[in-house]
Amino acid sequence: MKKIQMVDLISQYEKINEEVDNAVLNVIKSSAYINGPEVKAFQSELEDYLGVKHVIPCANGTDALQIAMMALGFKPGDEVITASFTYVATAEVIALLQLKPVLVDVDPITFSIDPQAIEAAITDKTVAIVPVHLFGQCVDMESILQIAQKHQLAVIEDTAQAIGADYTFQDGHKQKSGTMGTIGCTSFFPSKNLGCFGDGGALYTNDDELAKKVRMIANHGQSIQYVHDSIGVNSRLDSIQAAILRIKLRSLDAYCEARQNAAAYYDQAFQGHSAITIPGRNEHSTHVFHQYTLQIKGGKRDALRAFLATKEIPAMIYYPIPLHMQKAYMDSRYQKNTFPITNALCDSVISLPMHTELDEEQLSYISKAVLEFFDLQ
Ligand SMILES: *Cc1c(COP(=O)(O)O)cnc(C)c1O
Repeated sequence: MKKIQMVDLISQYEKINEEVDNAVLNVIKSSAYINGPEVKAFQSELEDYLGVKHVIPCANGTDALQIAMMALGFKPGDEVITASFTYVATAEVIALLQLKPVLVDVDPITFSIDPQAIEAAITDKTVAIVPVHLFGQCVDMESILQIAQKHQLAVIEDTAQAIGADYTFQDGHKQKSGTMGTIGCTSFFPSKNLGCFGDGGALYTNDDELAKKVRMIANHGQSIQYVHDSIGVNSRLDSIQAAILRIKLRSLDAYCEARQNAAAYYDQAFQGHSAITIPGRNEHSTHVFHQYTLQIKGGKRDALRAFLATKEIPAMIYYPIPLHMQKAYMDSRYQKNTFPITNALCDSVISLPMHTELDEEQLSYISKAVLEFFDLQ
């Protein structure tokens, strides 16, 4: 059996190595390393794939979030609501821009931000909601968009983990994750569902004016060369990364399907087990399984992880410490038990190996090992 990894990027690369090697060499030979034709081609191909008017590539997903908040013109002290159960980047950029992160709890089934908790957290200083499409499925966007409209708030979708997921609205129309709000932010970090061979990110929007501002801010606030209309940052996607992403974008749907097949295998193995909760689904969204995350009852999560390690099966805890208990984000507004669902998740979740190259032998070995752990209890 092939060695089991959380993410197997080598095996994925081996299937496209000739194409990728050629594309990278071509960029090297062209010397158009920054803002070359590959970047523009990738941008337009991703616009077509997503069905969105503007894709603005940038250097990474964290920058994408920061640039979005800069482009929307938020002022220090403005409040931005996001989930307490997420990767740190989401809250980090809010704090970095001297905005006030307002954390709210999540739904225990889908791990996603709870629309009712959002409504309760809105004040006259609130300017935006940042829903995080955690682990690969969209949050309840229809409710969030309604709340945002009612209170005139921007919606910045953090879709770093859910590129390719489809959300279906009540009226039946579908939209891709990241294209429903005011602006969407994604990451092409190697282990993300569409990953490059380094850092990368992008913003999406259907708003022409906002797209113009985003482009300007990502390029030193420059409107025309050496004319700077606002304070910006330097955040670019390298041409080499864009060339790789163009190739991988063609397989994105197949990659999603491979992840969904692996998830279906796990689901079947663990469904109905008294100590294991399989990942809950939002019925309005497809799930592209950036992570396959179980909840383990009875305080046995860490013991399970240690047991799997003895069988050379890696497993990860996303996320072990809630944001409101991180030293950098502690705040007198929060006590340890302020977000009970987030706390419970931090103590009970475990993510199993999930990537596009898992084969049946590996899936069977992993599932049997998990079940064996509970049989031994
Ligand atoms: C990965 C990730 C980011 C940050 O992306 P980088 O490209 O690593 O900066 C932001 N939010 C979420 C939810 C992520 O998973």
